Amino acid sequence: MRTIDTSYIDGSFVAVSGTENLDIVNPATETAIGTLRLGSRRDAQRAIDAASRAQARFSRTTKRERLDLLRALAAAVLRRSDDIRDATIAEYGAPLGRARWISQYASDCFSLTAEVLTDYEFSHRIGDAIVLMEPVGVSALFAPWNAAAGTICSKLASALAAGCACVVKPSEFAGLQAHIVAEAIHDAGLPAGLVNFVNGRGQEVGDELARHPRIARASFTGSTPTGKAIAGSAVESMKRVSLSLSGKAPAIILDDADLAVAVPMALRAGLQNNGQACIAATRILVPVSKIDEVKAITRLAIDALKVGLPTDPDTELGPLASRAQFERVQRFIAGGIEQGATLVAGGLGRPDGFDRGYFVRPTIFGNVSRDMEIFREEIFGPVISIVCYRDEDDAIELANDTVYGLFAYVWSGDPARAQRVARELRAGEVLTNRIAPELRAPFGGVKQSGLGREFGVYGLESFLEAKSIVESP
Ligand code: NAD
Repeated sequence: MRTIDTSYIDGSFVAVSGTENLDIVNPATETAIGTLRLGSRRDAQRAIDAASRAQARFSRTTKRERLDLLRALAAAVLRRSDDIRDATIAEYGAPLGRARWISQYASDCFSLTAEVLTDYEFSHRIGDAIVLMEPVGVSALFAPWNAAAGTICSKLASALAAGCACVVKPSEFAGLQAHIVAEAIHDAGLPAGLVNFVNGRGQEVGDELARHPRIARASFTGSTPTGKAIAGSAVESMKRVSLSLSGKAPAIILDDADLAVAVPMALRAGLQNNGQACIAATRILVPVSKIDEVKAITRLAIDALKVGLPTDPDTELGPLASRAQFERVQRFIAGGIEQGATLVAGGLGRPDGFDRGYFVRPTIFGNVSRDMEIFREEIFGPVISIVCYRDEDDAIELANDTVYGLFAYVWSGDPARAQRVARELRAGEVLTNRIAPELRAPFGGVKQSGLGREFGVYGLESFLEAKSIVESP
């Protein structure tokens, strides 16, 4: 049992003033593995004070100093990668392979950003003006529970490279993962107050950060409704806001694609991270003439999919992260059946052989129409809709028929055709004939999937503000 009753504020782990305790539950076993004491508004204010003091000096640091800091952070987080991996399995239920990837990625965020910073010029001339790219100021970094360590480190890397002191608001449902990242960051030996972590409820600690006048920048990753609330609160003090939000990614399989390759890949993209991924391909669009073949390949692929304990190296699909998630996903599956979709695979309840844990049957629906909830809403579990289209234009129209626009996928036997279709899709990132994103490319959504871009030079610039100093000619 792990008891976490501190937050990382002003360079040390201090007792929080909040009184609410939250059980940390292993989703594969439903047993409590620890408790998290939640912080309060007062803890958030202490963290903002500490970050404000650190900001004054940090904004004047040189590129060389920030590069040294990013490299120290990459090394410190790497040293704790086994612990981050284990916490991601125990608290979140990520299969071993995924947990390993996220723990490595958490460290890579700092080294990738160091590469970007090395080549970045913080001043340039335009006409009679010298344009300076200055740190925007104290930044609040909000992270969700489904990608805790990666989101925290990615945002921190960009903010610190830009010269911004930070207050991290991890999800209250990822307390253990966030605590280990905070310990790693502490071990990197940063100046006190430069990075702070405050646990707590979104409505309290998160809300304080979203409203506080000394927070200049809010970088949020989470659900669309929360993103809207934060943007609303932040506008009063005119914070610079970026929002990385929910998704409902389409995967178009064109009629010239090799189905034996494309269908299993699209399913993997839909079931990644136990189906709890904003970028999951949850609407697979297939030519009507190929539907029987697609269904047959789907059944084989789902039969072969190993659902199991996250600690088992063969497991491809682990449990959902919490009872609330399990119940939410069951409601969507029941709704899909009631609204007339048919089950190609899976269905209600736990998979065979499981009588505990938040395991869900990987569920693939056919006969889905665009008015159904399962087509329109982000389910955030291993539930995928297969939808038929008539021709390429119909496929593009269906793909774009969503309020979201984070990711999209296209498969075609002809890369030029895949490119052409990709250009028609309203999404922040489109992957053609692959399912691994490019982590150096800008990341973010259009429409209700968000505002602004993260990663690489776009992430760095989102924490900078241009100032022009105009000289007399
Ligand atoms: P969430 O919106 O419930 O919470 C995200 C963070 O915001 C948490 O730290 C939470 O405590 C905080 N928060 C909640 N209410 C708040 C409020 N009123 N004021 C301030 N802060 C508040 O999201 P979640 O359930 O943790 O994560 C799942 C969602 O995140 C899904 O919709 C998923 O698509 C999305 N997501 C998006 C991305 C992306 O990059 N686009 C990545 C991962 C997850």
